[in-house]
Amino acid sequence: MREYKMYINGEFCDAKETIDSINPCTEEIIAKIPKATIDDTRRAIQAARQAFDSGVWSDFTYDERSIYLKKISEGILENASQLIDIEARDTGKTIKQSTFIDIPVAAECFNYYSNVANFLADEDIKLSTESSKSKLYREPVGVVAQIIPWNYPMIMAAWKMAPALAAGNCIVFKPSQLASLSCLYLAKIIDKTGLPNGVVNIITGEGKSIGDELSKNQDVDMIAFTGSTDIGKKIMQNASSNIKKVCLELGGKSANIVFSDTDIDTVVGGALSAIFMNQGQMCVAGSRLLIEDKIYDEFVKRLVERTKNLKVGDNLDHATDMGPMISKEQRDTVLEYINIGKKEGAKLLCGGKAIQRKGYFVEPTIFEAKNNMRIAQEEIFGPVLCVMKFKNEEEAIKIANDTKYGLAAMVWSKDLDNANRVAKQLRCGQIWINSYGFFYNEAPFGGYKQSGIGKESGQDMIKDYLQKKTVWLSTQEEVPNPFIIR
Ligand code: NAP
Ligand code: MG
Repeated sequence: MREYKMYINGEFCDAKETIDSINPCTEEIIAKIPKATIDDTRRAIQAARQAFDSGVWSDFTYDERSIYLKKISEGILENASQLIDIEARDTGKTIKQSTFIDIPVAAECFNYYSNVANFLADEDIKLSTESSKSKLYREPVGVVAQIIPWNYPMIMAAWKMAPALAAGNCIVFKPSQLASLSCLYLAKIIDKTGLPNGVVNIITGEGKSIGDELSKNQDVDMIAFTGSTDIGKKIMQNASSNIKKVCLELGGKSANIVFSDTDIDTVVGGALSAIFMNQGQMCVAGSRLLIEDKIYDEFVKRLVERTKNLKVGDNLDHATDMGPMISKEQRDTVLEYINIGKKEGAKLLCGGKAIQRKGYFVEPTIFEAKNNMRIAQEEIFGPVLCVMKFKNEEEAIKIANDTKYGLAAMVWSKDLDNANRVAKQLRCGQIWINSYGFFYNEAPFGGYKQSGIGKESGQDMIKDYLQKKTVWLSTQEEVPNPFIIR
């Protein structure tokens, strides 16, 4: 069993207690991770505070910092085979996915933020006077706490750490206790780059204690959180204690809207990926599938047929489409929602049960549902799809927007004017037209409504990790006296 340690002030360390890391496909304990205490957390915060205040990182030029980001990216690629294996065993995601998505995307994100000097440049502000000049400087926020969920640990770590570091901040990072292994492995890669002590600290343990401390602690200047809307609300409240900057990437219940002028087989493929990839444990899962009435029966028939043919099982087999849920608790939550759906009168079209074998497996499940049912309104975070029928564009938009969330949507139509018109009326942060799930570092990512505030990725995120300073400079020889009180 590999030994995993936390990383505080440039040192690898244990905590008094440990937490078992479980492979959800086999139910075996594959590692033990440190269970940090509040004192460990405060030590990590102080390490980041001292590193930031000393200027060992923030005083570097961007070009100096970018060398480290590049080295981290290279380190991830050099260790790709270990990371791919760890990520799959720790989370249950398919090896196909960790190979082609999680690890390369994480490496590319560090690489991207090593090439964005222009986002940090100072600016001259154009004024309506010539008696003064004004300059805008962008400076790091300070100590940033970052908390992530378990569904995409390496990608989330990269999305959070890379822009924050590029901007000159120092970090205390906490992954989910259910999936910490790849992030602790990343600590070794970061350490090898020679990054100054305290610039990145990685602690593991329970969110309700150490995550709570990170969001309350007065020495933390900003908190960047990805996770559920309920915990996001708590974090926002805690952050008010010292007016921390917050960036929240929260839950979703995204609509996948299919108009009748589409190729059914292609779109069925898109709809399957949108709900069953990562076992449906995706914030942007297309968990509400809205189909135009003219093609509804045929579309649903083919969708159910293909769902029944999905290969669910050993996640280390490259032919597998779906692995297990992350944990027993998550599996039980999903099964409970399936029961709720049945009680609400939703019609079960396929799936609906746990799979009787080792591991936390649930059958890919489809319900014909109504949008006001709990299974269509609450985030299940599992392989459960609600299909619904619509008559026209107006009704599709109304159903799609009828949710407290606003993370993503998909629109399928050969008429691009139609698709764009619909996209503009959807109240959510990203919309894919005739595709699903593309993410590029250049484009901002984030939610509307209760799906969050702030944007990750692209320029927006690095700007969120910076604060703006305006400096005024008089251009007159004599000190001007614009004061009302002389
Ligand atoms: P979660 O329960 O909200 O937990 C997320 C993180 O917060 C974990 O590290 C957790 O620690 C920690 N935490 C728990 N209680 C806390 C507290 N009181 N104070 C501070 N931190 C606390 O979410 P999850 O179940 O891990 O992940 C699923 C959720 O993430 C879904 O709602 C999904 O939509 C959302 N998500 C959103 C995005 C996005 O970009 N919008 C992306 C991915 C996932 P422990 O669990 O280790 O105790
Ligand atoms: Mg695990």
